[in-house]
Formats: sequence, structure tokens, C-alpha cells
Amino acid sequence: MMHAAYRARAKPSRYGERVRAALAALGIPPGLPRERGLRLCPEARALVVADIDARGREQRLVPAAAAAWRAMKADAAQADIALHLVSAFRSFERQCQIVRAKLEGGQSLDRILEVSAPPGYSEHHTGRAVDIGATANDPLDEAFDTTGAYAWLTRNATRHGFTLSYPRGNRYGYRCEPWHWLYDPRLARIGARRIIEGGKRTHAKESA
Ligand SMILES: [Zn+2]
Repeated sequence: MMHAAYRARAKPSRYGERVRAALAALGIPPGLPRERGLRLCPEARALVVADIDARGREQRLVPAAAAAWRAMKADAAQADIALHLVSAFRSFERQCQIVRAKLEGGQSLDRILEVSAPPGYSEHHTGRAVDIGATANDPLDEAFDTTGAYAWLTRNATRHGFTLSYPRGNRYGYRCEPWHWLYDPRLARIGARRIIEGGKRTHAKESA
């Protein structure tokens, strides 16, 4: 049993091999992800439609993240805050195309990797990351952090299980992305417990 587990770990995964080949093809140094502390993000398999975007495209997430997204959006709407799902799941192949297109457009690799993840390392592969817009056609720029939607998210996203991945000065070498949030089921469980405990406290106060 232990021997098998050891062998499984020692053998490079097929996905890892695909990622390495893609990085080489794009001219991305193989050591770059480790230097920047990026974690390999496997592609999600089971995806469901979480929302329809402004262009009528289906935006997909894993089931738990899709449910959390819809609950958070409904919660925000109660406070008159509109949250738009601009981008959700993105495949490894699509990330390769994005980086390739930018290279062909003449951008330097350094510049590209300040805003785009190397293929295999985008949180969007996991089906748990969302790019949120304050408007239907939000340009996803740093000005998002001046919107009411962002202010609402900073106060409420955690209890729905969403966390900001790349704040200003993040250690991964990405520019600040106030629109990019990751669903973390562990955070969602803590958030749910806080709501219950908070409710109990309120109740205790009211009855005292
Ligand atoms: Zn994103």
C-alpha cells in the first residue's frame, strides 16, 4: 500500500507533463511557477452552469462553487448590489491560447505573466474562481476596488466562502486583481458556523 502510494507520487502525473510541455512551447521557464509560489491547478471535471454572462455565454463552476455564487449574488441583491459573473471556469487549453495570443500580439512574457497565469496554474482551471464585475460588461480593471460591489464583497464574501486571491502587493507576482475571488469550501464551513453562532448571540442578547 505504502509502496504503491510512493510510486504514485514519484511518477510525474500526465497533467504535470502536459503543463511542462505547454510552458516549454510558450517559452516560460520551467522554474518560474515554483519561484513565484504558484500552485498547480488541476482542471475541474464536474462542472455546472453557474450563471449566464452579459454576452449570453454559460459560465461554469463546480457544483459547490456554483451554489455559493448564486447564494452570494442573491445576498448582494438584497442590499441593492449587483454582482456579475464575467468569467468562471477556464480550461488549460484556453489558457494556452490566451498566453499564445498575447505573445503573438507582441507583448513580453514578463508583462503577460503579471496579469495571466501560466497554463496549468490558473485558479480558473479549478472551477472555483470567479471574476466579478460591478456592471454586465465590467472591464475587470483595478478601478473595481472603488465600486460598491467590491466594498460589499470585502465585508460579505468570506461568509459565502469566497476569498480575494491577489490583493495589492501579493506574493505571487500578479498585479492586484480586486475582481478575482476563489471559492474555498473550508472557508464556507467557517462562514456558516459564524452565521449560526452570530445568530445565537443575537438571540441571547434579545432574550436577556
Ligand atoms: Zn480571474
